Amino acid sequence: DPRIPKIASSIRVIPDFPKPGIMFQDITTLLLDTEAFKDTIDIFVERYKGKGISVVAGVEARGFIFGPPIALAIGAKFVPLRKPKKLPGKVISEEYSLEYGTDKIEMHVGAVEPGERAIIIDDLIATGGTLAAAIRLLERVGVTIAECACVIELPVLKGREKLGETPLFILVTSD
Ligand code: IMP
Repeated sequence: DPRIPKIASSIRVIPDFPKPGIMFQDITTLLLDTEAFKDTIDIFVERYKGKGISVVAGVEARGFIFGPPIALAIGAKFVPLRKPKKLPGKVISEEYSLEYGTDKIEMHVGAVEPGERAIIIDDLIATGGTLAAAIRLLERVGVTIAECACVIELPVLKGREKLGETPLFILVTSD
């Protein structure tokens, strides 16, 4: 896709953020580039429109940037998957492990119905722990995950392998 190189070059890399040794992939510069941002959304929309997807689930925080315009364009609802204690209603939650300790993501009870087809959106897959937890959360309530979609993959971390049978679609890889 000829749009990909422009998208890739619009992403800024910030060394040693948030900790020494981390090369942080910063998508805020992609958002400043009106052509790259539009192309990013368009590529996802072209892929998922008319495919029977009724749910776009976005992972906090940057899945909340890319998810809603995709949801609107394909005629699906947007479901935020949030960090603990942010959602005001009754939630179901799913734990996942971090380098040190664990974290959780939560979804409102009643946001989705059994039998719906979803895609899960985030900006980046690193170890895959976050997306794997998102898949488990939605599958627990009877939703089928058609695919996970991210702007960026860090393939050295092999996060893709944590997603099991669920396909992963990405636009850009980074090392
Ligand atoms: P994982 O669970 O290890 O795959 O980490 C993915 C999560 O961490 C996603 O929600 C990302 O937004 C976030 N993340 C990890 N590294 C980066 C980065 O370099 N840039 C932006 N987000 C990152």
